[in-house]
Formats: sequence, structure tokens, C-alpha cells
Amino acid sequence: MSGFPKGHILDIDLSSGTVSSQELPPEIYRLYPGGSALGLYLVLQHMEPGVDALSPDNVLVMAASPLSGLPISGLNRLAVTTKSPLTGAIGDSQAGGFFPVELKANGWDAVMFRGKAAEPVYLYINGEKAELRNAGEAWGKVTGDAEEVIKKEIGEEDLHIAQIGPAGENLVKYASIMNMCNRANGRTGTGAVMGSKNLKAVVVKKGAKQKPFDRERFKEISGDARKRIKENSIVNSLAEHGTDSGLESLNLEGFLVTRNWNSGYFPEGAEQITGTTMSETILKKRDTCYGCVVRCKRVVEIPGVVDPLYGGPEYETCATMGSYCGIKNLETIALANQICNMYGLDTISCGATIAFAMECYEKGLIGPDDTDGLELTFGNDSVLPDLIVKIAERKGFGNLLAEGSAEAARRIGKEAETLCMTVKKQELPAHMPQQKPSLGIIYAVNSFGADHQSSAHDPILTMSPKSRIRDNLYQVGIWKGYDPGELVLDDEKVRFAYNSQCFYSLADTLCLCQFVWGPSWQLYGPSELVEVCRYGLGWDTSLYELMLVGERRINMMRFFSAREGFSRAEDELPSRLFKPLPEGPSSGISLSREEFEAAMDLYYRIAGWTHEEGHPTEATLKRLSLGWLIK
Ligand code: SF4
Repeated sequence: MSGFPKGHILDIDLSSGTVSSQELPPEIYRLYPGGSALGLYLVLQHMEPGVDALSPDNVLVMAASPLSGLPISGLNRLAVTTKSPLTGAIGDSQAGGFFPVELKANGWDAVMFRGKAAEPVYLYINGEKAELRNAGEAWGKVTGDAEEVIKKEIGEEDLHIAQIGPAGENLVKYASIMNMCNRANGRTGTGAVMGSKNLKAVVVKKGAKQKPFDRERFKEISGDARKRIKENSIVNSLAEHGTDSGLESLNLEGFLVTRNWNSGYFPEGAEQITGTTMSETILKKRDTCYGCVVRCKRVVEIPGVVDPLYGGPEYETCATMGSYCGIKNLETIALANQICNMYGLDTISCGATIAFAMECYEKGLIGPDDTDGLELTFGNDSVLPDLIVKIAERKGFGNLLAEGSAEAARRIGKEAETLCMTVKKQELPAHMPQQKPSLGIIYAVNSFGADHQSSAHDPILTMSPKSRIRDNLYQVGIWKGYDPGELVLDDEKVRFAYNSQCFYSLADTLCLCQFVWGPSWQLYGPSELVEVCRYGLGWDTSLYELMLVGERRINMMRFFSAREGFSRAEDELPSRLFKPLPEGPSSGISLSREEFEAAMDLYYRIAGWTHEEGHPTEATLKRLSLGWLIK
């Protein structure tokens, strides 16, 4: 086995226009081996507490993984880390595609941006060479047009581009970073940070991918992935109908977020917005990320309306632009998705903020005079396209919604804050803690606000103990199963939340797609990940070391947010989740306040955080080799 590699970091000072590089020694890089953990390490090393997220003092890191480019499905995510303008806490977001693989293929593990350019620029990386170029031509353009301008200027087609759209330029608080014009680092407003730095894009040329350390053994791990997909009903339906394949059953169970979380049941519209309906109507083809055989990405087309360049809506988008808003028109949802991808907006925060505004309108807290005449009633899909553009351009009523629903609620006043469905000012994604109580804990404690991809979800605990999923869970210390109707939040569920959170945190560090890896999907599991590290990289590791990597990242995020003033008070869920659902199969179901508080106490004790503030203790930081943070 070889030793652990060094980390190669591109260090860009946008204020001075200086491009330099740093090398992290193997003993440091092994603790923070890529993705979000590497980004956090750099942010914590180079950023003072208390800076304005949209000031030049913020630091933004795009990072790949030491595994990026190895020939196996699902090793292709890009992690972006910075201070979030939406939450004021740590900002963190992942996206699939090809960009991070090419970044690594050019010899770079991460790019760190500091300062602010005097004029709009983009960074062009061609192997060891990296240069800042004027982005005047691309600035102001939607993603598809900007990509064309940049490719023409460089004179090559075969480039991968991570860029912001006009929403990022206009500092919309939930602006995304887009690659391929249809893959989004969507959450926490990282696109606005790029905009504040006058940084339009990062462009990488295609490069030679790394080869596995031990090719023969590596091949044995990847096995026959296509056969595994066929044998596995969950991954099979993900491949066939995309992430939206689960929408129908969520509705049948009464847990499809509907009309700004007033209900979990959308019988009048769910069928029209399912993954199957999409496959049967507007789907043009399936797409993929680097090296992945699952091909879950949707590409839709509506001639003259929706361009395949902008991909197709995921489940989250179908829910937030659909059932959240009481909208059942799939074509409008596809158009809304396209506009978000053109302008660079997080579809979750955008759809959820519109749903919040609709409820304010229905309750008379705002009226046509406030909304530029738009009739913001639930189900009125005709308002969606115009309103999204207004948000991205910060025009009229859109300027208020561009701040996110928490800030909009504060400005609207009256009862608006009680209608706001956020944690730490980030809008809740489309998974209901009433059905997934352990997810309620993760929504509450997660340092960058409510997130559905930071832990495994409760329903997998109801699968057969002989299933591959349950076997994966055993490997990370989870053995208790539950009956399907058992929606409890007991001690074992808290352990499930914490242990799976550590694994998912590892996934966001090694830039793994969670649909392929991890306890809750079945293509590959934790033991195979250890082998990928061994035979792909020559990293003689263990599941124990890898789980510590994940746990370290969780505590770095928590430490970052603690120094920004966050504490247990911000680990609170919207009160609506504790009220019984009104209708359908989930009628009467709610989170139990008593169970939730007891679970939170236990979570803090398991995590090694202080009871009152929820901050990592000195012992916890030292256990995770983070003693340097205490100073
Ligand atoms: S499962 Fe889907 S999102 Fe994940 S890597 Fe494959 S194609 Fe991309």
C-alpha cells in the first residue's frame, strides 16, 4: 500500500488577481480528505469569525475527492463550502456531474477563492495553469448563453463549467452554482457568494483520469453494477423514473408536503406530477454523471417551451414547485425548473418560498398591491414562471422573496413568521418528519439548516433484516428494525440518526452520490467503500477511520456555526410539525414534542455537545483531532 497522497489546492486571491497553489501534507489531507471536510478545513484556516457572507472576507471552496475519477458509479460530486448568506451559518452544498472529476484530472483537489475581483471574472484551469479572465461578456447572461460565450472565447467545446446565473449576480440569498446548466450546488446560497466576489464561473479542461492503485482488485469491487440495479427494486425505479419515482407512494401514505405543509395529502394532483407521468409524457432521455450506470437524471423537452439543455425536475422540484404550491401542472413545473437552472436558483428554497408567499396571500397578510398584481393562490400555476424571474432579477415583489422566506416573513410581520417553514432560515426540503421522526432531529441539529441528505431516512428501518440495506446498516452499528406504522422517535432512532449522519457526512467528504453508496441505497455499501479506498487509492483505511472522518466534518460545521453565534436555540423545528395533519391517510399524525425534546437531549449527549448550547465540548474536538480549533 502506498501512503496517503498530498492535497493540491489552488488559492485564488480575487482582490489582487493572484493565482497560487498550496500543498497539504498527507497527514493533514488524510484528516480532511476532500469534499466538504477539506472545504471546511480551508475555510476555518483562512476566515475570521463574524465576516459578512457577501463581503470579500468570505472564503469559498470548491472541492473534489481523492477518489474522484476512479472508474466506479457515484464518485463524482462537487462540494462547495463557504459562509451562507441565507443562514449566516456554514454554507454547504453538493452537486453531481463531471466538473469535480475534471478538476481532479487537472491535478487539483480544491480551489479556494478569497477577496473580490474589481470586474467580473472567470477562472480557467488548464492542467497546472490557471488564470483569471475577464467575464464581461458572460456576466448578466443565463447559464446556457454564458456557457456558449465562454466556450467560444476559449475556443473549445470540451470544457466543464461551474457558474452562476443572474440570480447569483443579483445576490439572491438562495442562488445556486450550476454545472452543465442542469446540475446544481443548490442549497445555502453559495451562488450569491460567487456573485459577491464578481466570480462568474470556474472552467476546467478535460484531463486524464486517475487509475486505480490496484486495477484487478478494484474491478472486483465494482462488479456487475447493471445486474445489481436490476436486482434492486429501489435503485431500479430510481433509474427508470428518477428521484421523482417515490412521489406517488409518499402521497398514498399521506406524507407528500402539500400547500406549505398544511397537509401531507395531494389527491387532486399527485398523479399528474409523478416520475412515471414524467417518463410517459415529457421525458426525452435519461442522463448520468461521470462513470455512473444508474442514469437517474431526467432530460425533458416541451417543444418551444422547455429546452433539454436544462435537464428535468427532480423529486424535490416536483414537490416544492408542485404540491407545496398546490400545483399539479407538470409542464409548468418543468418550466419552473428550467428557469431556476437558467438563472441559477435553488429549486427547493425557491418553490418553498413561493408556497410560503401563497399562504400569506391566502390568509390576507399580503395582497395584490404587494405582489405586483400576481394572484398568489395555491394551485395558480400561471404565476410561477413570472414570479421566479422576478425573484432572480430582484424585481418588485421578487426582491422580497429573494431574501428567503424567513427574512420575508420578518418583513411582512403579523402572523407571517408562524407560516414560515424553515430551520436556521433554510427552507425545509420535501420529506416530512411526521413520517420520518429521526429526520426531524437532523433537520433541527444540522449546522447548515434543514437538509434531507445528511442522514438515512426512517422507512429503511422497516425493511427485511435480511435485505442488503439492513446489512449495510449493521455495518454502521444500526440493528433495530421497526414496523411500517411505527412512527416513533426512541433512543435507537436517535442512534440511527447520528450513526447514519456520520456516514452521510463521510459521503459528502468523499464526494459520493448517496443514491449509489451508503446505508440507504444498495448498489454499494460501507464495506465496499473501504475497499474502494484501499484498492482505488492505496489508502489502507478502515470503516472506523472513515466514520471518524464523517464525524469530524459534522463537528467542524458545528464549531463554525457556534463561533457565528448559533446555539441550541436555533435547533428548533417549525411549530406546524407538532400539530396533527388534517386529512388523508396521515390524518391526526404529528411529531411528539415530548419525544422530540428527549431525543434532542440524547442526540447532544451522543454527539458530545454541551446540553445548554449544543456546542462541541473540548473533549469531543480533541477526540476528533480538532484540538487546534479551540485556540
Ligand atoms: S445515481 Fe444519479 S445522481 Fe447519482 S451519480 Fe448516478 S446519475 Fe448521478
